[in-house]
Formats: sequence, structure tokens, C-alpha cells
Amino acid sequence: ILSIRDLRVHFGTRDPIEVVHGLDLDIAPGEVVAVVGESGSGKSVTALSVIGLLPENAHATGSVKLHGRELIGLKPADLRRIRGAEVALISQDPVASLNPVFTIGFQVVEAVRAHSHGLSAGAARRRAIELLELVDIPDPARRMKQYPHELSGGQCQRVGIAMALASDPQLLIADEPTTALDVTVQAEVLDVLARLGRRDGRAVLLITHDMGVVAELADRVVVMREGELVEQGSVRGVLLQPTAAYTKQLLSAVP
Ligand code: ATP
Ligand code: MG
Repeated sequence: ILSIRDLRVHFGTRDPIEVVHGLDLDIAPGEVVAVVGESGSGKSVTALSVIGLLPENAHATGSVKLHGRELIGLKPADLRRIRGAEVALISQDPVASLNPVFTIGFQVVEAVRAHSHGLSAGAARRRAIELLELVDIPDPARRMKQYPHELSGGQCQRVGIAMALASDPQLLIADEPTTALDVTVQAEVLDVLARLGRRDGRAVLLITHDMGVVAELADRVVVMREGELVEQGSVRGVLLQPTAAYTKQLLSAVP
């Protein structure tokens, strides 16, 4: 699905600072790939490069191919279209992903209609209910009449995932998606994300600090340090037999 080659990201124009130093990464359909590494190692910048959401002062070079299509150097309008239809970003803050003044139902239905023009109101509503069932929202028909503040943080996050799924994206990217939630709720939300992400040939790129989450949900793990990929492999391989000294250090810091 995704193939990154020699990705470099610079910040600033006068004296550019390189923060990602030539990263190679592949993600196959059905895979959940976790990216770990300490703060500032370049995880978010890498994720943002994939969807063309880097800030203005950043510049990416190299190659990022989604289904064989080069994204680096695409015009913003083309990138936006791809982002809407093929890649979904699950936001970090469960409440911010929803609009407080509209009902859950309105927002999910709108998300559905945004991607399938010409769908009848009834069909859009049925699809919205399906999506909410998919993310384990109990009694979705009733929930649709409620406002975001009437749902728990974890439920809001799952509604956010349902909306992200409305476009049937091939790649789901979650950057520390659940830090605003308590640990058990985080686990539930990530479990939904990984389960749905694996289906139908989709893939998930999951950025996390949490080795427990990696062990539980990911198929493969990528370890980043100071803008470089220091190690990657199966979760078992990397967690049980890390080869890089840095990975050993990172793992020993886990309680
Ligand atoms: P965290 O775990 O804290 O989220 P991260 O691995 O996601 O960290 P990034 O946000 O990818 O780290 O940052 C990588 C590097 O890029 C850091 O050195 C950071 O200072 C730099 N950087 C990020 N955003 C900007 C920006 N808008 N302008 C300048 N430098 C930036
Ligand atoms: Mg980050």
C-alpha cells in the first residue's frame, strides 16, 4: 500500500535543518505497523509527510508512494483529494474530531455523503448506522440523536474513527490517537482501529509511545531515533530480540 524511499524532511528555508534523514518504510495490505521512538525522533513528521500535512516551513524530498502513486511534489489540491479518499488520519483529541454543535448522526451522515455523492438520505443513514456498529457504538440509532458532550471520550473517538472510515480509506494513520483517554479506554479504541484497519486489505500506521500497545496490536514495529530508522521487524522479533542497542535501551525503560 505504502512505500517510502529515502524520505528527508527539512525545516526552514535559510538554514534548513534536516529532521528525517533518509527513511525507507513499506506497509503491506492488512498490516498494522507501529512506529516507536522517543519524543522528537521524527514520528509525527514522518506521518505528516505521508499525507502532505507538513507545516509550511517544512520541505520533504524522496519518494512516498501510495498504491504506486507518488505523493511527494503533488499539488495541494490533489493531495487533499487523496487524503480524503485514500488515507485517513485519526486525530489525537477525541473531542476535537467532532463538532460540538451537531448531533453524532448528522456528522456521520455528512461524512458518508461527502464521499458518496448522490446517495439517498435513507441509504446514507443506513451506512452511518453500519459504521457506528462497526466501531462498537451501542444502540447507534439512539446515539445518532445525541451530541458529542453526551458521549464518553472513548465513544467520541470511536465516532471519529467511524467518520474516518466513511471514505473507505486504504491507509489509517493514528498519531498517539488516544493519549487523552484513560488506559483501558485507549486499549479498546486501538483494538477497534487495528481490527478494522486489518480488514479488507487496509493498513494501519500507528504512532505510539506505548510498548504494551505495540505488543498487543501491531504486526510489525519500526524504531526511530533522531530522524533515522534504527530497527524494524516483527513485533516478536524486535521486542524479544532487539538488535539495535537503542531499542534495548528503549525497551528497558518500559516498566
Ligand atoms: P513526539 O513523540 O514528542 O510526538 P515525534 O517523534 O513525533 O515526537 P516530531 O514531531 O516528528 O517528533 O519532530 C521531529 C523533529 O522535527 C523535532 O526535532 C522537532 O523539533 C522538529 N519539528 C517538528 N515540527 C516542527 C516545526 N513546525 N518547525 C520546526 N521544527 C519542527
Ligand atoms: Mg509526535
